[in-house]
Amino acid sequence: MEKPYDLLLKGGIVVTGQGMRRADVAVRGETIAAVELDIPAEQAREVVDVAGLYVLPGVIDVHVHPVYLDDVGDCSLVAAYGGTTTLLHYAYARTGESLLEQVEKMLQDGLARSRLDFGLHGGLFEAPRQVPEIPRVMELGVRTFKFFLAYVKQGWFTDDYHLTWAMDILAERGGMALVHAENGGAIDYLEDKYLKRPGASLPEYRRTHPAALEEEAIFRAIRLAEVTGCPLYIPHVTAARCLRPIRQAQGEGLKVFAETCPQYLTLTDEILDTRGALAKIGPPIRTAADRDALWEALRDGTLQVVASDHAPKKKDPWGDFLEQPYGAPGLETLLPVTYDWGVNRGWISVVRLVQVLCENPARIFGLYPKKGTIAVGSDADLVVFDPRREFTIRAENQHSGAGYTLYEGRTVLGWPVMSFQRGRRILWEGEVVAEPGSGRFLPTLEAPQVPPL
Ligand SMILES: [Zn+2]
Repeated sequence: MEKPYDLLLKGGIVVTGQGMRRADVAVRGETIAAVELDIPAEQAREVVDVAGLYVLPGVIDVHVHPVYLDDVGDCSLVAAYGGTTTLLHYAYARTGESLLEQVEKMLQDGLARSRLDFGLHGGLFEAPRQVPEIPRVMELGVRTFKFFLAYVKQGWFTDDYHLTWAMDILAERGGMALVHAENGGAIDYLEDKYLKRPGASLPEYRRTHPAALEEEAIFRAIRLAEVTGCPLYIPHVTAARCLRPIRQAQGEGLKVFAETCPQYLTLTDEILDTRGALAKIGPPIRTAADRDALWEALRDGTLQVVASDHAPKKKDPWGDFLEQPYGAPGLETLLPVTYDWGVNRGWISVVRLVQVLCENPARIFGLYPKKGTIAVGSDADLVVFDPRREFTIRAENQHSGAGYTLYEGRTVLGWPVMSFQRGRRILWEGEVVAEPGSGRFLPTLEAPQVPPL
């Protein structure tokens, strides 16, 4: 007898953004063919027993920087170990570089080396020269572009004139602006004031990135988005007060989306005392009250997405704190760390977890329902997650080239045990088995959807 299905995950608890239920998941070719109770095992060529385990849609990490110690190929490996199956990378065009060339380069690199399906965001460091390239880059299937309101001294900053111009172009063509929202000019002044003192180090550094300047920049980005009619996405929101302008804008019906990251959800500023420059990231990790407010905001829908902001860089933890670069790894721990703190501590349900890690990123970046859910016709991107499996995170069991993790020694309950992308094995028996170059490029073409709560 001809078997109708290629793969059957049997006995699991299927979780989507709509709810959770017992169901088997059958796959034919690259897509999901049935999600039903008691699909007979004889109907599939391969049957995997997932009794008692969660079957989640593949996690989509929309905030990845594959340009430091992990490249596009490495990032796909590291992410796959953590249960992520789709990545959206930032293709940065630095000063003097062409945005189009950098996007094309990362696209080709991804096709050659990525083990996972991936899409791209453009990132503009020299807006006056690079904004005119946006329409041609959009033709490649890249429709989200990042601008910095921070980093004036470094020369990465986009001023209001050029951000408004870019937003105008994006609004007209169905794109979206991503804004790193901190007031760079004010931060530069505070750095000059405090960090030039003799012997300045961590205590002085702590005075240079106040949350007020993040809130102010978020507000400014929102108002420029309002004037131009451009959808806006704020990556890495860190503090309670930053939620005020976001809530206000969403209440006004503006298309304003916001993301936070596991480091802001599960760590506090005290980590700088123990891990030093390894925990130096921008914007900074803030207080326990901020951390808890971010969970509230994930629960009430003000924040729609959790992503890693994976940016592992070479640092000397014993060197001058002020000289060390911003950034930390986080790709591999995105799902388990968010699950452990969020679900096991009762901040959010497993269904909400799937919304913020899978469904909402897919909706906002135009990949839904191909990605982000478990439904007939969707790509068979599946993560099998064991909620009873304990795992102690240590640098030596992580796969990033960073060589350290901010979660060193943390024991989490719940770990991804296998994953599939378009029906093929990615994580299998504890190892990533997908081949480099097997990932596909995902154009992000549709207008962003406001995720339902
Ligand atoms: Zn980032």
